[in-house]
Amino acid sequence: PAPASPPDTIAAIATAPGRGGIGVVRVSGTGLAGFARALTGREPRPRIAAFARFLDGEGEAMDEGLLLYFPGPASFTGEDVIELQGHGGPVVMQMLLERCLALGARLAQPGEFTRRAFLNGKLDLAQAEGVADLIEASTAAAARSALRSLTGRFSEEVHRIRDGLIDLRMLVEATLDFPEEEIDFLEKARALPRLAAIRADLEGVLDRARQGALLRSGLNVVLVGEPNVGKSSLLNQLAGEERAIVTDVAGTTRDALRETIQIEGIPLHIIDTAGLRDTSDVVEQIGIARTWQEIGRADVILRLVEADGALGGEDIDARLPAGVERIVVENKIDLHGRQPGRREQDGRVWLSLSAKRGEGVELLRRELLRVAGWHAHGEDVILARERHLGALRSALAHVETAQGQVMALELFAEELRLAHDALSEITGEFTADDLLGVIFSRFCIGK
Ligand code: GDP
Ligand code: ZN
Repeated sequence: PAPASPPDTIAAIATAPGRGGIGVVRVSGTGLAGFARALTGREPRPRIAAFARFLDGEGEAMDEGLLLYFPGPASFTGEDVIELQGHGGPVVMQMLLERCLALGARLAQPGEFTRRAFLNGKLDLAQAEGVADLIEASTAAAARSALRSLTGRFSEEVHRIRDGLIDLRMLVEATLDFPEEEIDFLEKARALPRLAAIRADLEGVLDRARQGALLRSGLNVVLVGEPNVGKSSLLNQLAGEERAIVTDVAGTTRDALRETIQIEGIPLHIIDTAGLRDTSDVVEQIGIARTWQEIGRADVILRLVEADGALGGEDIDARLPAGVERIVVENKIDLHGRQPGRREQDGRVWLSLSAKRGEGVELLRRELLRVAGWHAHGEDVILARERHLGALRSALAHVETAQGQVMALELFAEELRLAHDALSEITGEFTADDLLGVIFSRFCIGK
């Protein structure tokens, strides 16, 4: 390939906008020692935090603080990096940034520092995504999980599975050259048990990645029931504060209210809806139409009924989507002198509780976790994105297909190749050449 021109120097304010004790301007590029000299009037010392005055074009101080200088390649981006830690006011930060631009830097695009780190091989794609996920984490559990991706734990597991696939591919591709020995050879090499082990590993990682996706985006839980059955009261209990309007007048909640709560670090987006019933009130009809929209996006439906045994609302139940998890909540047990409880009936879980008194609400929290499929224990979770889940699912599907193709070795080889490609997407590696490299370096073709 043609040699790329050296990347230009980029700069940005790295701290959040607004006022703060400290603000940081970050610069990445080549030859930044001269840049630092122009900024401070002194020779920068690698990896030493040095007190400095930051000078404008006339040599006047704009601010004072710390200058950090990381010569490449031992830096976050792999290029020379300098950081100016000044006082965190918007005006002074802007002055420092503009001075950097005047010295020849240009404004960095979003994510550009991390992208350079990826291009320079400091981080793979999954790690780079971990950086973003750590910054965006909405719960402590999600943050811990993002850090594991960032430090490469997820990538290591993907690599381990990928290496198993590479070994198997080498074996199969070599066998393809000697067709008369094919099946025998695969048997001797225990190709199938090895593939089964790869599949089991993939299934394990996919499961933990699904848990991570749950941690990342949570679940939509929609409260459904006739007016006055206690939906708003239950939302308040779950959220632990007075948010929804609770009234004795049927049909009060006309708009969907949502509240995000956490159970064991999982965000649950709970949506309180207008009571479903026939009505001629136009405003109420709009609320009911929205309710059906929310139901369409639900991961879990909490179907509230009164604990008086009179069911009602069969027409509602008939219209609820069949594929969505549904928990029946019998509310107002306090009016009937009943105790909270859980039972299974007609293939559904029924929970009896009192939203008003909070009795049995803990049972509901636990049930929500169970329905969500949450069974992970912190350390194992992989904070996966849809992209990762898609790649893992695709790799798994190809491995499964390969298992059915042992008699057609060309197809078997092709499925292994596709599984390998899918895994490589996760870490963002280019595959074709590197597989050839491995084959030639580790396998004697002249055998
Ligand atoms: P929604 O229309 O389904 O949202 O129902 P609300 O939450 O507004 O409640 C309607 C009425 O039922 C209010 O007067 C609540 O205080 C009452 N209510 C809700 N839950 C319970 C309960 O568990 N026990 C009793 N006794 N009353 C309840
Ligand atoms: Zn309500």
